[in-house]
Amino acid sequence: MIFKKNISSLHVPHNKNTAGSVPVPVSAPREVVLPMNMQSGHEAVPVVNVGDHVYLGQLIAKEEGRASSPVHASVSGTVTEIAPIRLAGDREVLAIRIENDGKMERHPDMKAPVVTNLDEFLEAVRNSGVVGLGGAAFPVWAKLDAVRNNEIETILVNGAECEPYITSDHRMMLDRSDLVVRGVNLMKEHMKVPRVVIAIENNKQDAIDKMKELFRDDPAVEIYPLETVYPQGAKQVLLYNVTGKVVKGGQRMASLGVLIINVSSVAKLAEYIETGMPLVDRIVTVDGSAVKEPKNLIVPIGTPIRHLLNEVEMKAEPGKILIGGPMLGHAITELDSPVIKATNAILAFEEKDSIDLEASSCIRCGRCMANCPVGLNVVGIERAMAKKDEDERAAALTKLGLKQCIECACCSYVCPAHRPILARNLEGKEFLKKYNAAKKEGGK
Ligand code: SF4
Ligand code: SF4
Repeated sequence: MIFKKNISSLHVPHNKNTAGSVPVPVSAPREVVLPMNMQSGHEAVPVVNVGDHVYLGQLIAKEEGRASSPVHASVSGTVTEIAPIRLAGDREVLAIRIENDGKMERHPDMKAPVVTNLDEFLEAVRNSGVVGLGGAAFPVWAKLDAVRNNEIETILVNGAECEPYITSDHRMMLDRSDLVVRGVNLMKEHMKVPRVVIAIENNKQDAIDKMKELFRDDPAVEIYPLETVYPQGAKQVLLYNVTGKVVKGGQRMASLGVLIINVSSVAKLAEYIETGMPLVDRIVTVDGSAVKEPKNLIVPIGTPIRHLLNEVEMKAEPGKILIGGPMLGHAITELDSPVIKATNAILAFEEKDSIDLEASSCIRCGRCMANCPVGLNVVGIERAMAKKDEDERAAALTKLGLKQCIECACCSYVCPAHRPILARNLEGKEFLKKYNAAKKEGGK
């Protein structure tokens, strides 16, 4: 991986229109749909049945298997269906549908967990259902668990939020800074990590100031202003820009003595440990050129996206709706898709901003490579993908380091020929995954 000394080549318009928008609770949805897999690991397994009454915060699906995460009821009401649904990205997953009784009644047994040591802390993080809320959605317990087998010297709290439009983490740092402080202190206390760095892009000066003020008497916590460039929040880029360390393909970040955790995840794990309320809601930015009055909303997980769009005043019929930001988000057509744990934004764009420009031939301008933060030979990868022989294709893609692609979309963004570079890289990664798995099984 060849990082540039200063990753400052891609300045995308920030469009942080909701930076001043204090999150407000969305009106009660009629029902919520909670997928059993909202993270990057295995599906959770339902522990309720159709017809059951559930309380807000009640466990409805337990984690099972590697990097799984439990799911909790985000409203009180009645389970009406347990059936597969299709999520953005065309992924089919089992989901629990709950009809909201409108009472938001907490489970009567809900109480804050007792946390006095590392084991109890990690167990609480596991039971909280908190995953990476910046979009990666890796279960936080599985990440923090690395402290057992690695000498962790720094926890890097990711408050970069470099994707345009999204201000969910920004508002968390401003409006629930108490939870951010509590979460940082809990990690320090129980994980015995000597240094915590909270890294924030310098287009969020108010958040930087607030964090500096709150941690002014704690020499173990450093507030690290970052240049506002995309993809500053990508974990490999953040790691390099803050610590100068480079993580190689297949290497675990913990082996370098660093753990990176999203700032909203830190706040949510603190909320669970303080109150016993697991992850049942999150801040979602609703914005885009079709939205007249963009907002930050506090949304029960599982709320249909249609419900969020009804909460903001629109100025035009959307031509495209994205779940997530404009660089990494997915276009969706199914408005009944639910907000999941990793959904930090819903963006609705007018027809004129929704046209996918037709790809033309590569003009060998080299912009894709000049702007790739990990220095990949993007054009070479395209050539390798065209190889008919699978063994040759796999060998070439491996040699070119495709696995190191951090899927930031900088290459696609700058390409004057509008070539679908990221889509092709994803296809290549999928091909390599299957090819290597087949090799391992002796099928090749
Ligand atoms: S998406 Fe493109 S720019 Fe980003 S790391 Fe991959 S090849 Fe490089
Ligand atoms: S930016 Fe686009 S046109 Fe330029 S070299 Fe890369 S793929 Fe070709």
